[in-house]
Amino acid sequence: MARIVVTGGAGFLGSQLCQRLLDRGDQVVCLDNLQTGSEKNIEALFGRDGFEFVRQDVSNHIWVPGPVDVVMHLASPASPIDFDRVPIQIMKVGSLGTHNCLGLAKAKGAVFHLNSTSEVYGDPEVHPQPETYWGNVNPNGPRSVYDEAKRFAEALTLAYHRTHDLDVRIVRTFNTYGPNMRPDDGRVVSNFINQALKDQPITVYGDGSQTRSFCYVDDQIDGQLGLLASGYNGPVNIGNDNERSMLDLASEIIQATNSSSEIEFHPLPEDDPARRKPDLSLARSLFQFEPKVSLEDGIIRTAAYFSSLQP
Ligand code: UDP
Repeated sequence: MARIVVTGGAGFLGSQLCQRLLDRGDQVVCLDNLQTGSEKNIEALFGRDGFEFVRQDVSNHIWVPGPVDVVMHLASPASPIDFDRVPIQIMKVGSLGTHNCLGLAKAKGAVFHLNSTSEVYGDPEVHPQPETYWGNVNPNGPRSVYDEAKRFAEALTLAYHRTHDLDVRIVRTFNTYGPNMRPDDGRVVSNFINQALKDQPITVYGDGSQTRSFCYVDDQIDGQLGLLASGYNGPVNIGNDNERSMLDLASEIIQATNSSSEIEFHPLPEDDPARRKPDLSLARSLFQFEPKVSLEDGIIRTAAYFSSLQP
């Protein structure tokens, strides 16, 4: 049993992680400023033993009284619509927020676990992407606030590891979806499922040939906890290597939800990566990681969640 600080603990991934940690007997201190997270995501956790919530922006100085074994830093707006909406906050939480969380981990003698992203690969010229690939990021385009903040966060994390011998983990999370996503977060899975549930047009950007590799949230958390336990200090990809085009995804969602929606084409956003697929060899060899939930099952579970939110 450990006492674990989860920043961004009221967000989509953070709230699912808090629940999983409590289920396995850990104590959880959830920090979130509720900018993109929501109390609804954690309302079922409030009554549980070992759960504490502190409303806090980790871009400002943080302090958690008592012992801490692990700091898991997930806090950051992460959807492309946030990149325009709150760009400075994204850069602050990736830089100042990561610095504060590293400082907390160092002061407590805790393990520091950074949630980085496949966005560090930008619009990749190497496919699939191994951790050794340095990426192809536009340093001042509309996505740069997120990409560069996470690249800075990785560099800072490894600087603490090298300088202070801090025990660190870096997970590069690939497109993850599931219950507790914001229905209006603008991402492709939430958009398509909510459009399909209402029989509205499915908004495919560009010609829909761009690809992503979608990971169900339970698999993502299995991978992150596997990495945490592994003791490995460098970056590790976690995701699902089942790559799909957006047109494929649209058809899967229409079928899984029995929808009469039709496809509608919209302009491709600037710098939208053409393809993305994790090379999972490292996670497989380090801790036998294997994603288990099929896209079809994941869509059905996520659609059930979004349906439950509808009036
Ligand atoms: N996308 C789309 N329709 C939408 C939302 C997104 O076709 O309604 C596309 C988007 O252009 C991108 C892909 O889906 O190519 C994944 O977008 P998302 O915002 O989910 O995440 P990203 O991987 O780009 O960060």
